[in-house]
Amino acid sequence: MHGEKKKYDVIVIGGGASGMMAAGHAAERGKSVLLLEKNAAVGKKLDITGGGRCNITNAEFDRHAFAKQYGAAEQFLYSPLSQFGVQDTFDFFAKRGLPLVVEARKRAFPETQKSPDVTRVMKKYLTDAGVVVMTKATVKGLTVVGNRITEAKTMHPAAGGARGTFTADAFVISTGGVSHPETGSTGDGFKWLTELGHSVLPSTPTIVPLKVKESWAKSLAGVSLSFMKITFFADGKRAFSKTGKILFTHFGLSGPLILNSASAIAELLKNTEVTATIDMYPDTDFAALERQIIAKMDANKNKDFKNVLAEVVPHGLPKAILELLALPDQNIKAHSVTKEERRKLVHILKGAPLTISGLMGFDRAVISDGGVPLTEVDTRTMRSLKVENLYLTGDVLHISRPSGGYSLQLCWTTGYVAGNSV
Ligand SMILES: Cc1cc2nc3c(=O)[nH]c(=O)nc-3n(C[C@H](O)[C@H](O)[C@H](O)COP(=O)(O)OP(=O)(O)OC[C@H]3O[C@@H](n4cnc5c(N)ncnc54)[C@H](O)[C@@H]3O)c2cc1C
Repeated sequence: MHGEKKKYDVIVIGGGASGMMAAGHAAERGKSVLLLEKNAAVGKKLDITGGGRCNITNAEFDRHAFAKQYGAAEQFLYSPLSQFGVQDTFDFFAKRGLPLVVEARKRAFPETQKSPDVTRVMKKYLTDAGVVVMTKATVKGLTVVGNRITEAKTMHPAAGGARGTFTADAFVISTGGVSHPETGSTGDGFKWLTELGHSVLPSTPTIVPLKVKESWAKSLAGVSLSFMKITFFADGKRAFSKTGKILFTHFGLSGPLILNSASAIAELLKNTEVTATIDMYPDTDFAALERQIIAKMDANKNKDFKNVLAEVVPHGLPKAILELLALPDQNIKAHSVTKEERRKLVHILKGAPLTISGLMGFDRAVISDGGVPLTEVDTRTMRSLKVENLYLTGDVLHISRPSGGYSLQLCWTTGYVAGNSV
């Protein structure tokens, strides 16, 4: 391979979800395609998506309703989604032996519930279409002549030696963003895109867990509660509330509700102190919950309070709640709990206090914001408006979106459109 120089119709840089789709579809159209991937295998990030289950898309089949989820990118996405939309994703995978199933909030997963199956389908797609896949090939730079890219120069990532220089008529940059850099997404494409005249917006982690100060929350690492209401406060003033599943981690909070609140929290944290309260019984008001607790305590007067607590509060929580209650003696009987202590318990259950100390970093982020603004990309083709023979896909584009399958649909869509246009 050393010093090889060969000409292709298309070179795709980056073997993630969008690069594989772009390469496969271009090759299906009869183009000679080289896919350059720096890892030893393609699809490393795809393998860890959706907690290993891959939330592959979102089953909202109305294109306009679907596009609305992308905020400022809504209009831009009408054309790409009309070329390859949600139904196309369902059909694409079903046709290749991997039907999709739909779960809560319209999230679609492969029927097998295994993300490596999605990677396997994409790999076979590449092979069947005749894409030349070169792994352990890190693109180190692009040669530009006039307004066109002519060459991609590659190195072996471990050995450090040259792997070859490859020429093509068209180039697709699919190098991803900067979240979970261990998967290969280290922002390499952003450097070249800046050099090529694109204005790359700075990356910030957007769908990312939150850090909290309180030890009681950290002590719950691994506990997940499916129906809770969290209310955020900026300098003590109510900002917003959300209800849903919260996952406690050793650094703070995660789960879909938290991940989707992160960008709003990042904004609040710029200028204010952010605190939160968690209501563990959003469906029961204070008085009703207090009545339930009194009844439980009366019925178990002579039992140890901590054992009664275990019957009252959600599974996994008694220890943390005891910490918050800070009783002078934790080994008292239920009948010795004072009215004030019982009311304090209800206050905790209806509003356990937290201080949000920040967001986790790129290493924990599902998605990072930033990248090439859509004003610099042709909506119908994904072609760069700065460089004649350059196309952009997936996370290199600056598109905000929630979790729920919206990122991968963006990859299938922009990958297909680029593959169709090169
Ligand atoms: C933990 C986690 C879970 C997620 N779960 C979901 C989910 O369930 N549903 C959903 O919709 N989205 C999910 N996402 C987001 C989704 O995975 C990404 O949006 C998507 O993978 C981006 O694909 P991409 O093709 O743009 O780039 P990437 O998948 O980032 O791929 C880029 C590729 O380019 C390669 N590369 C980079 N630089 C070079 C170079 N110099 N030379 C050669 N190759 C290079 C990298 O090695 C990498 O393989 C998740 C993300 C994370 C981190």
